[in-house]
Amino acid sequence: MAAIAGSKCTILARQNKFNDHCCMRCCSPFAFLINTKRQCLDCKFNVCKSCSSYSKEEKAWICAVCQTSSYLVDFEYKIIMIIFGSR
Ligand SMILES: [Zn+2]
Ligand SMILES: [Zn+2]
Repeated sequence: MAAIAGSKCTILARQNKFNDHCCMRCCSPFAFLINTKRQCLDCKFNVCKSCSSYSKEEKAWICAVCQTSSYLVDFEYKIIMIIFGSR
């Protein structure tokens, strides 16, 4: 469901500079002070407050999707280490 919504956003983002006005991840429109625009360090898309979190290590904002993908990479790495590390 989330993946479908995400791809819908991607299509929209290519049109009419959608991402200048709306969050790339949840499609909610940006509003001054209430829903501020933040640029993700990884994908460079503009995301809203609820779809981003601050990374202290990177000193930048990271969107929810990039956070999940980096988490998955880390997770896969751990699995590989468990499988191959034990041999
Ligand atoms: Zn959002
Ligand atoms: Zn991102």
